[in-house]
Amino acid sequence: MKCSSCPVAGACVGQTAETSFACGMAERGLESDRNWIRHASGEAETQPAEVLEAPSSAPEFPTLIDQVVGLVGTLVSWARSGFSLAPGIERRRRLTICLACPLLDRPSGRCTACGCLTAVKPWLASADCPQGRWGPPGPS
Ligand code: SF4
Repeated sequence: MKCSSCPVAGACVGQTAETSFACGMAERGLESDRNWIRHASGEAETQPAEVLEAPSSAPEFPTLIDQVVGLVGTLVSWARSGFSLAPGIERRRRLTICLACPLLDRPSGRCTACGCLTAVKPWLASADCPQGRWGPPGPS
């Protein structure tokens, strides 16, 4: 059953704050986060069905060693960038793309291409989508 204050567009499919980063963000109660969730989930609802089609089997993530190598690479790049964070508008742009991406495992909030948490990776200014879906950064 949908929570009375849920900002996600569409029906609830049983997510909780433990299994969905959108629910976690909503529970933290920041109005800017709640507005972003309303906007992003509404946009995702209007995407063509094939874009949002969930995989029918259990998600497959990269091997543990590949995830560790990817994580180390991401952290090294981030350190080289001076630990800079992406501006809010760029973070939201990236998150909106991830939210509509068929490679996102929605229950865990993790990208099945790299294994990263999509609630975290968009924050790192130097990070990039392993599939090139984020494209060039938007205006800051
Ligand atoms: S990082 Fe890229 S591949 Fe992964 S979920 Fe986001 S848009 Fe999809």
